[in-house]
Amino acid sequence: MTRVKVVRDILEANERLAGENRARFDAGRVRVVNLMSAPGAGKTTLLERTISGLSPRLRIGVVEGDIQGSSDAERIERAGAVAVQINTDGACHLDANMVASAVAELDLSALDLLVIENVGNLVCPAEFNVGEHAKAMILSLAEGDDKPAKYPLMFRESRVLLINKMDLAPYVDADPDRIERDARAINPEIDVLRVSCKTGDGLQGWLGWLERLVQG
Ligand code: MG
Repeated sequence: MTRVKVVRDILEANERLAGENRARFDAGRVRVVNLMSAPGAGKTTLLERTISGLSPRLRIGVVEGDIQGSSDAERIERAGAVAVQINTDGACHLDANMVASAVAELDLSALDLLVIENVGNLVCPAEFNVGEHAKAMILSLAEGDDKPAKYPLMFRESRVLLINKMDLAPYVDADPDRIERDARAINPEIDVLRVSCKTGDGLQGWLGWLERLVQG
């Protein structure tokens, strides 16, 4: 019983801080996406593609969440966007408090779009709101087509699902139709986009999705 209450208190405190982050984002007129996936699904590569596809039309900033290291933030800066690195020192997700400290380093009024690249993990990131306007997730085809059924929360919470690494379709036994069908069974409203961050196929749909979010 005690443990249940502790978890509830942690989530309630997080919700309060997420609300404060959201107010800060809205005051700065910046739209915020919480980008989630398992490790290696292609979050950082997608962001490199996104920055080259939308800059300078949209001014983009990125908060990079990693357990340790700053190699992803360096990749984002080389791609031409502002980046702030958060190291969670072992925590498997970002929470609203960590995002608040990262956002304090940014001039939000100089941004149109802020993407928060969460720690690679299919479970915990979906449990913690950070004040975002939308959650997005990437699943690479190579992870297998059973993932919506096994990890439903992230699919339920996300407004868009990118099925990445479609270029690997001839080499892996995973059916993107099954992924899409199972994701829609969990979340009928979810947008599903099939992309390859390696070849660039399908990425126009993602860039358009982001532009509509920023304009909306
Ligand atoms: Mg990354």
